[in-house]
Amino acid sequence: MPSVKTYTTVEEMRAASRAARLGGLRVGLVPTMGALHEGHLSLVRAAQAQCEAVAVSIFVNPLQFGPNEDLAKYPRTFERDCQLLEQEDVDFLFAPSVEEMYPEKAITYVTVEGLSEKLCGRSRPGHFQGVTTVVAKLFHIVEPDLAFFGQKDAAQATIIRRMVRDLNFPVEIIVCPIVREVDGLAMSSRNAYLNPQERKSALVLYRALKEIQRKFEQSERSPFQLIEAGTQVLVQEPGVRLDYLEIVDPDTLDPVEKITSTVLVAVAAFVGGTRLIDNVVLAGAQLI
Ligand code: AMP
Repeated sequence: MPSVKTYTTVEEMRAASRAARLGGLRVGLVPTMGALHEGHLSLVRAAQAQCEAVAVSIFVNPLQFGPNEDLAKYPRTFERDCQLLEQEDVDFLFAPSVEEMYPEKAITYVTVEGLSEKLCGRSRPGHFQGVTTVVAKLFHIVEPDLAFFGQKDAAQATIIRRMVRDLNFPVEIIVCPIVREVDGLAMSSRNAYLNPQERKSALVLYRALKEIQRKFEQSERSPFQLIEAGTQVLVQEPGVRLDYLEIVDPDTLDPVEKITSTVLVAVAAFVGGTRLIDNVVLAGAQLI
């Protein structure tokens, strides 16, 4: 089995990626925080399909965690991640330390103003600034031709697209569909926190989204009514505390008053102490 070339320094990673590009290879980057699952691997496979060299980064980015969040206990399964990436025939793994990424206390940030405060940005102040700052750094380090993100983090994808557009990053952003467990739960590294009872309760996020989708397919076009229907499902599950359930424009992340074009239905809820997110897009022929 070919082994993944693993780099821990910015300099080595950049040199390897530049050499690949100089050799005429298109480089694809899949940024992750590790604890890899099939959702991450679907991004890797999409990258393999479109690029001749694939780099995956594993970096639990302190900048995107709030002071009372799960940075310290975030799952870290590096050995297993390496094995999975080997099986996927990934070319490069970039796994820097926090000191390597932020050698001195950084005072420069990338902020996508006006989007970073929406959805998860409201309950997680500073989160999206942490994400855009680290992703901008990864783009400068790896210099990928294409970068792959999951629809699972829909607001993140919108914000990164906007950053790339506004700052002229020479990278194409590809967003891949949400990968779910067989029962519908969106795969997430944080699912590992759930005990068996919480794992059952967590399904309510997807149930609420499905209910909204069902009502939409029955021609309900009022966001108020749709959110009401979804909320009814969510409140029935004890131990689940809703953070937000919103129907927004996928580009501005602003709530819509009437559904006339494609919208994003996004939900975040605490299941016990674990904060989970999920979403569906209401789109296409169904709108007519
Ligand atoms: P994370 O390691 O949670 O930062 O995620 C790294 C990338 O994987 C992000 O672009 C996520 O949107 C994506 N991702 C995470 N879970 C899923 C999933 N269930 N389906 C598709 N993509 C995912």
